[in-house]
Amino acid sequence: MSIIFKTMKKNIFIFIFIFSIFSLFLARAGNDISDFSRLKSNGELPTQLKNRSNSDDPGTKYLFSLAEKGLLLYGNELNKYVENIADILLKNDPKIRKQLNFYIVKSPEVNAVILKNGAVLINIGLLAQITNESELAFILGHEIIHFTEHVKKYENDKTKITSLNNYIAYQQNSREDELEADKLSLERYFIKSPYSLEALNNVFDVLMFGYLPFDEIPFPRTEVETEFFKFPDNYFLQNVKEIRNRNDFIDTLSTHPNIKKRQQFLENFLEKNIDNGKTFVQDEILFIKIKNLARFECINSYLTIHDYDNAIYNIFVLKKQFPNNKFLEIAEAAAYYGFHKHKTNGNISNVLQEYKKVEGEKQQIAYFLQKINKKEANLFAIRKLYDVFQKNKTNKFVEKMIDDCFYDLIKENNMLLTDFSDYAENEIIDTLSVQNQTPDTTEYKDKYSRIKNKKQTFVYPNIKFKTVNYMLVDLKRESLFISLFENSRSKIEDEEQLKIAAVGKPILKKNDKILVWMPTYEAIYSNESNKKPKLNNKVLKSAINKSLKSLKIENEIISENYFDKFNTEKFNQIATIGSWMVDLNQTDFSRMQLYQSQWFNEEMLKSGFQYLNLVTENSEKAKFLTGYKYNIIYRAPLCWPTLPIDLIFFFLPNRDKNINFYLYDIQNREIVVSSNYNTENIDATAYIHKNLYDTYYLIKNGKKIKIK
Ligand SMILES: [Zn+2]
Repeated sequence: MSIIFKTMKKNIFIFIFIFSIFSLFLARAGNDISDFSRLKSNGELPTQLKNRSNSDDPGTKYLFSLAEKGLLLYGNELNKYVENIADILLKNDPKIRKQLNFYIVKSPEVNAVILKNGAVLINIGLLAQITNESELAFILGHEIIHFTEHVKKYENDKTKITSLNNYIAYQQNSREDELEADKLSLERYFIKSPYSLEALNNVFDVLMFGYLPFDEIPFPRTEVETEFFKFPDNYFLQNVKEIRNRNDFIDTLSTHPNIKKRQQFLENFLEKNIDNGKTFVQDEILFIKIKNLARFECINSYLTIHDYDNAIYNIFVLKKQFPNNKFLEIAEAAAYYGFHKHKTNGNISNVLQEYKKVEGEKQQIAYFLQKINKKEANLFAIRKLYDVFQKNKTNKFVEKMIDDCFYDLIKENNMLLTDFSDYAENEIIDTLSVQNQTPDTTEYKDKYSRIKNKKQTFVYPNIKFKTVNYMLVDLKRESLFISLFENSRSKIEDEEQLKIAAVGKPILKKNDKILVWMPTYEAIYSNESNKKPKLNNKVLKSAINKSLKSLKIENEIISENYFDKFNTEKFNQIATIGSWMVDLNQTDFSRMQLYQSQWFNEEMLKSGFQYLNLVTENSEKAKFLTGYKYNIIYRAPLCWPTLPIDLIFFFLPNRDKNINFYLYDIQNREIVVSSNYNTENIDATAYIHKNLYDTYYLIKNGKKIKIK
């Protein structure tokens, strides 16, 4: 018996061993998303992206404009997945296959487009919403037909196509072409491929309802409330707005018109043809992985463009499938943090959809975010961030967001820990203990007296307390939370002291290196508003270069020709900076930990830069009589000797010039110089470039140039 038992035991061990290896493999194959952060480009730079300055092709320019915003991906797993489908579809058409380049675009919008130069752009939003591989094959076939049949026609139709954006809109709005692309895609490629026709049943639903979240799951109150605090009932909707059905779909307003007709055609085609295909030709597990990667990247997109209701709802949906996922937890905290920043410092109308327009379960969160006040949003962010902090104690991004939330709590919302009850709303408090303990209402002025008086005190509810005053009941019981708060508070005090001490001191330390990002100069030469500005970045670039050189400030200037000697590493670096810039452009207040900064800062410091510098110059024709010319008029009667010269200047056309200058401190994650100067002088360029030099001088030396 013991022998049998022994062998059985041995077998069980072997079984357990094999089983665990197998499940490990399964987990890796299907669910390899536990350490997700963001998608990057890999491998060889596509030839199409090798030469920027030599290219006049608007399509190539468009690709670079996407790349500069960090939106373009190549050589990624997602690209490869799509490329494999193209290989399968175009197995007998190698000539066409050779002309096509597949890019993934980091946009959550459900869309795909093909350019004249053969660039096929597939949005992550499409990959996130699609239900099987055959659907994707059908959509790729559709785009390829646009390339073989329609692109030339668009090119010749110069009256309608004036720009590339215009071209993309035109391509998708030509109803006949859309139908023809479907028809030929099916006849020419799909029916001869191993893909399944049956599997196309829902393909138009994907296009029609792609604006909806990844799933429809009721958003319960328990997501935002705890046993210690409840929000008023009117913070929640009784019923959410129903999702319109297929028949109510307003075709003319859609980005994908003619859908009903296209659906009808597809149904007829399905009836007439026998289906022998497979829904998935590549491994289905791979499809699920690609879809999940696309969904996770959509969360990055939503947070980069500050679309908080979409971010929060879709994170909620994904957390059901991926509980305890680190990326989702940090993203969720960042979403509540970002929302709080706009609510407290800015304007939420830019970052929140009007709840009345939102359909389905997402409406609950859109409504709730509309309802909560500044203080509640602030506390909400603190709660979410504290949760995440406990699991990621060394994450700099999380720490910075917490510090900033406490800063807002103290400075913007004028609250301290003594404003928060230690007892839950409606909790019955033992009156005896109330009498025995006097609540601590003393406010200590500095951190040292606070530390000295660290006695245990309790805050009891009073009649003035609202929901917000109960939002820290549980957290106040934790010493880690209290020390985080006190720590942040000390930092705020230190920061104020440092700011005072820094006045008159140089900003740059020895060997600090600055990265100047894409200096841009725009000149408008006509009063017509639709006239395109003339770009002349070279003049500005050389002015910056001269100043930096003469002041011996270490620097690198990224401008268009940076793209000429380009590789994937540089491409990803540009994408990181570009995404950060998109994020930055969403804020109209100075103090915010940008979502993209978690990658941007790391990348910049790794490359040896301490500061990022942005300079833009605008120039437009000034009014004939400006302040400058009034000056000439006033002084003319008194200054006879200069009159002839003044007269010449008086009649010369003058221009209105304007420079915006930002210097961003990477380590401390804040804008340290933000200035704007403007002139209407005749000699505006020289004047403005002298101002530029003076600004760099001030940064380097901490004081203005002395005029001897
Ligand atoms: Zn189309």
